[in-house]
Amino acid sequence: MGDITGFLKIRRKEAGNRPLHERICDYSEVEQILNSEDRMLQASRCMDCGVPFCHWVCPVDNLIPEWNDLLYKGDWKGAFNRLITTNNFPEFTGRICPAPCEHSCVLSINDEPVTIRENEAAIVEKAFSEGYIKPLHPYIRTGKKVAVVGSGPAGLAVSDQLNKAGHLVTLFEKDDKPGGLLRYGIPDFKLSKVTIDRRVDFMIQEGVTIRTGTDIGKDISGKELLDQFDAICIAIGAMKPRDLSVTGRELKGICFAMDYLINQNRINAGDHSAAENHISAEGKKVLVIGGGDTGSDCVGTAIRQKAVSVTQIEVLPKPPLIRTSNNPWPYYAKILKTSTSHEEGCERLWGLSTVKFIGSDDNVSGAEVEEVDWINADGRVTMQPVPGTRRIIKAELVLLALGFVHPILEGLLSELDIELDNRSNIKTGLNQATSRHKVFAAGDAVNGASLVVNAIASGRNAAKEIDSFLKNSTR
Ligand SMILES: Cc1cc2nc3c(=O)[nH]c(=O)nc-3n(C[C@H](O)[C@H](O)[C@H](O)COP(=O)(O)OP(=O)(O)OC[C@H]3O[C@@H](n4cnc5c(N)ncnc54)[C@H](O)[C@@H]3O)c2cc1C
Ligand code: SF4
Repeated sequence: MGDITGFLKIRRKEAGNRPLHERICDYSEVEQILNSEDRMLQASRCMDCGVPFCHWVCPVDNLIPEWNDLLYKGDWKGAFNRLITTNNFPEFTGRICPAPCEHSCVLSINDEPVTIRENEAAIVEKAFSEGYIKPLHPYIRTGKKVAVVGSGPAGLAVSDQLNKAGHLVTLFEKDDKPGGLLRYGIPDFKLSKVTIDRRVDFMIQEGVTIRTGTDIGKDISGKELLDQFDAICIAIGAMKPRDLSVTGRELKGICFAMDYLINQNRINAGDHSAAENHISAEGKKVLVIGGGDTGSDCVGTAIRQKAVSVTQIEVLPKPPLIRTSNNPWPYYAKILKTSTSHEEGCERLWGLSTVKFIGSDDNVSGAEVEEVDWINADGRVTMQPVPGTRRIIKAELVLLALGFVHPILEGLLSELDIELDNRSNIKTGLNQATSRHKVFAAGDAVNGASLVVNAIASGRNAAKEIDSFLKNSTR
């Protein structure tokens, strides 16, 4: 541990965001990068606790106190080498992880946790700029062939790990480019797509074969993969969006958040022009239904598209500003989160249920909403409408950001007759094997819609199990 009193002398300092008036005019990343000296000082605040709760809570088990100490001492390369021991893609998590580690940091008790996520991003970016990261070919090739279906963070992590273990990996992706939700869900202002391309280029140079534009279960059958490969990993995400079955749902101008976000990401990528955008918020009053991260991403996108106004509603009550007694440290703090998109100008309302959509000439013109109370009776929380509270929120564009229910079941999963759990996600054992011999699964397709860091952790675990399955089958 470098400086035993660092946390007493140095206050938490975040890199900060680009000025609001500037960033809402483009789709470049909002967050800035702290200079190296300040970053090392921030690392000195890590107390190297006897029980590092940050490490305990990080889904990929990042060795946080170790790399913070090396960072404080200026050993950026050493810090990077510790970081990649546990995390294949710190450049993704360093940008968009909600950082449960910071909620569990001991300094979080005083509301000034170590800037763990930003430190992580700084370490990996230094590694890229100084050339510590180089494409490395495996020492040996086992001759075993693995097919990975889906190139989101889970599929990328499985592929990276198994390629490094010497297996021949082919990664299949139905979209035209790899990345999954990293590329076509998460907006560029949170994660620049150059970051994904840079990593994918490395993986290709290291020997991973990537076949995009290939829908497994349609362009190539699952059975063909079973014939051609020694193992398969399904990492197709949980892409089935939750719908809202109320009167007026069929009106034009009501669409799923993902369709809306993909559209803008494709415009940014130059796939089609802004003039061709068929779901633009420009000049419209926008209503986002769903108070989560996807909804927040819709808010930021609508503001950049020059919406007249943006309202985001959530059926749950407004979260508290500080931890409640039943949500103590070191657990994730269930408190009000204000994203950079919210700061950019949006009205946020809680405890509102959508009763019906209204419109004229087939186009939506608003939503009728009603206040709801959440009643806790004998441990069961139920929603109750508040009489006399119905009102109309005007909107010409309504975005449904209500989460995802399960993976797409048609196609690959039904063709291979893969067993599902009671939420219709892929059922796996601890070894991440599915009901079908030599077929494994990882990521949101198994766990339900979650986080990038959980997808990476799941991909790493699946790779370990597939490697051991292939070694046993070799024996
Ligand atoms: C709008 C939005 C914002 C988010 N923001 C954050 C955030 O800020 N931080 C965070 O941690 N998490 C965030 N998440 C969640 C995170 O993106 C996901 O949890 C994560 O991407 C899941 O990874 P995955 O690899 O399991 O699946 P996905 O990323 O969904 O990738 C699955 C891939 O499989 C492909 N595929 C599907 N079927 C087939 C097939 N039959 N053949 C070939 N390919 C197929 C799909 O095209 C896709 O590319 C966000 C999610 C959304 C929707
Ligand atoms: S991956 Fe997420 S939880 Fe783990 S150290 Fe990084 S920011 Fe924290």
